[in-house]
Amino acid sequence: MTRNYKADIAVIGAGVFGAWTAYQLRRAGADVLLVDAYGPANSRASSGGESRILRLGYGPDAIYTRMAQRSFVLWQQLFEQIARPQLFQPTGVLWLAREHDPYCEATLKTFQQNDVKFAKIERAELNIRYPQLEFGPVAWGMLESDSGVLLARQAVQALVAAAQSMGVTYVQAAIRPPKNGTTRLQFVETTGSTRIVADKFVFACGPWLPKLFPQLLSELIHVTRQEVFFLGVPAGDNRFLPDQLPAWIDFNDLVYGIPNLDNRGVKIAIDEHGPPFDPDTGERIVLQESVTRLRAYLARRVPALADAPVIESRVCQYENTSNGDFLIDRHPAFENAWIVGGGSGHGFKHGPAIGEHVASLVSGSAQVEPRFALATKDKVQKRQVY
Ligand SMILES: Cc1cc2nc3c(=O)[nH]c(=O)nc-3n(C[C@H](O)[C@H](O)[C@H](O)COP(=O)(O)OP(=O)(O)OC[C@H]3O[C@@H](n4cnc5c(N)ncnc54)[C@H](O)[C@@H]3O)c2cc1C
Repeated sequence: MTRNYKADIAVIGAGVFGAWTAYQLRRAGADVLLVDAYGPANSRASSGGESRILRLGYGPDAIYTRMAQRSFVLWQQLFEQIARPQLFQPTGVLWLAREHDPYCEATLKTFQQNDVKFAKIERAELNIRYPQLEFGPVAWGMLESDSGVLLARQAVQALVAAAQSMGVTYVQAAIRPPKNGTTRLQFVETTGSTRIVADKFVFACGPWLPKLFPQLLSELIHVTRQEVFFLGVPAGDNRFLPDQLPAWIDFNDLVYGIPNLDNRGVKIAIDEHGPPFDPDTGERIVLQESVTRLRAYLARRVPALADAPVIESRVCQYENTSNGDFLIDRHPAFENAWIVGGGSGHGFKHGPAIGEHVASLVSGSAQVEPRFALATKDKVQKRQVY
């Protein structure tokens, strides 16, 4: 006999957005069911993978700086509560800026206006502090000394375990796209024909959102293939350990790096949007031409790793909205369903603040943030938020 489930609120998707939403809803007293097709922070999910940078810098977009500040506090509270402080690695985050650099200059201004602790570092000082990097056209740097790296997969899995210990029910099942035709969603159905009945639904399905709501989202969320590399450091070489090298953001080259955490190697990711990608069926093998491009970057910026072996690699995906703003809004056809996504390659750090915001939206105590509204999403890609 198939078992049906019933809850006040069903959250579909246990990536960082759904897991924090379920956690915050439960903290607010709701009876919550969390569902995921492949498991929390699974290898296909955008929240899978070893590490994600937690930075406060967002150019002129103070909204994200403030969200990251709030999230930072909530991440640390969670890690303290579950006695796993190492899930945040305080590496610091170094921005590499050019002579005339509108984005980094705007970031600096936002930091000053929002009491962010940072240090501006002149080029000569950069050379002394970080001889592992060859700075080339970099004219100055900005160090967010308190920021760092979240151990992504482990953090989401620990969060789901914490949510379960507070009473959230977790079910591994794939939900079929809901059928239109009513103004309230009574239930959703799994591919095994189990019904999940709830008063309210939150769809936090990341890059799968266009598959669940093709009519609504197939032109508004663009899923792109992204590649990540781990470079093996030379034997006995300590220069790339996190106490000697912070995470760095080479904004003008659309590349960022993470020091040798857990001795997995130095992680380099290309932030430029790749081609369209299917999160279910896409093959996750990096391209040889990308390795060639990576080596050209290394030769310029990290010469000691120019010939280092790629010891691990990953293919992940971004779920981009037109400009990089999140999509957090009520479903236009269902009065009791919310869509939470559009992480656009920068969402991980914001999971806690998003969960808090969605819990308030669902309870009716908050309004939709205009920048996250469905109505402000465009079909034409024009990236503005990084
Ligand atoms: C390579 C890479 C690097 C990144 N770097 C950073 C960074 O340094 N800092 C940062 O802040 N952000 C970063 N991001 C962005 C961040 O990781 C994402 O914005 C965030 O993880 C999105 O989380 P999500 O919960 O929306 O989606 P996901 O993690 O993809 O979760 C969606 C979940 O929904 C489930 N699901 C989908 N469809 C169904 C269904 N029908 N039924 C049941 N379950 C379903 C999936 O299995 C999945 O687990 C990066 C992303 C990538 C890919």
